[in-house]
Amino acid sequence: MSDQPIEERILSAIQTALSGIDGRVPLHEPHFSGNESAYVQDCLDSSFVSSIGKYVDRFEHMLAEYTGVQRAVAVVNGTSALHAALTIAGVGQNDEVLVPALTFVATANAVTYTGAVPHFVDCEEKTLGVDPLKLENYLKKVTRKGVDGCENKFSGRRIRAIVATHIFGHPVDLDPIEALCRRFGLVLIEDAAEAIGSFYKGSHVGNRGFLSVLSFNGNKTITTGGGGAILANDEALGDLAKHITTTAKVPHPWAYIHDRVGYNYRMPDINAALGCGQMEQLPSFIYKKRALAHRYAEAFSDVQGVRFFKEPEFADSNYWLNAILLDDSVQGYREDVLELTNQNGIMTRPVWTLMHKLSMFRECPSMDLATSESIERRLINIPSSPML
Ligand SMILES: *Cc1c(COP(=O)(O)O)cnc(C)c1O
Repeated sequence: MSDQPIEERILSAIQTALSGIDGRVPLHEPHFSGNESAYVQDCLDSSFVSSIGKYVDRFEHMLAEYTGVQRAVAVVNGTSALHAALTIAGVGQNDEVLVPALTFVATANAVTYTGAVPHFVDCEEKTLGVDPLKLENYLKKVTRKGVDGCENKFSGRRIRAIVATHIFGHPVDLDPIEALCRRFGLVLIEDAAEAIGSFYKGSHVGNRGFLSVLSFNGNKTITTGGGGAILANDEALGDLAKHITTTAKVPHPWAYIHDRVGYNYRMPDINAALGCGQMEQLPSFIYKKRALAHRYAEAFSDVQGVRFFKEPEFADSNYWLNAILLDDSVQGYREDVLELTNQNGIMTRPVWTLMHKLSMFRECPSMDLATSESIERRLINIPSSPML
């Protein structure tokens, strides 16, 4: 067995976990078998498909109830949710925001929309997210207390916030990150775009951030076609998030008064109708995704040189995208694994190119990124749809 090439052993472990499924297996496929079409049809019948209608309110209430936050504000996508959250956090020109090097590009893009500069930080292998200890030691070295808060000694810019991404749905270690934010005077934003249905020490992710964001893009755990949400644990902040994402219009029966530069980031009602149907199915999606992860864990348990990524001990993860990590000794076979699995109709993907390697972010400040670089060489995402 073990003198079989590693790519063949990986292919057969995936096939074992997916036993009985034939045809092409995508990485993550949406599934609509509940009330989605009825709600969307109802929305069409009412003719309130756009910015007025009942489904946005209903979707927001369902999100707040499920995640346990006080307020959820539905918006057009996760990227705009991040942009609005950073704006509300006071991030702007001449600020820096700490962002993981290992994340989806939207996290760093949203920072630049505010005029601020992303400052890339390393991750830990246990969570794939921000490494709090390494970050603390780094901040001790490169920052000083400025008049305006935490200041980067080298660039002279204020470091205003950190965006912590829950990578592939696995919660980052929020307790030490929160402590670090208090110590250095940073605002915490949770990028929970991939993490609806994931829990940190018993509470849903997105409860610790000053604001947090979700995404309902087509490849996420639940989808509204395209969509996102801002989560707030404070009524006033929730109101502000709603205000700024709906053109900052002052309520008035007829006059158009806008009290700041706002954004047209509101989620259309027709997308929210789809979201209500998906929310009803979320618990069953999570159950199925966790069962699939369990089957992968079993199938990979005796494949030498490969580790199936499991949730950290403090977390109950949604396992949005399942991942395997090659050992250092076999990391050179990553392309062979990608090639053989994709040839056999099983969609697999490498992790995103690290942010500091993308042309537009190459000049941004960053700390030592050894763990992110190692994970980039070794990680492969494997099929994760709830219906598998
Ligand atoms: C999907 C995603 C986003 C952006 O969400 P969109 O709805 O696609 O704009 C942001 N951050 C992370 C980590 C994501 O995976």
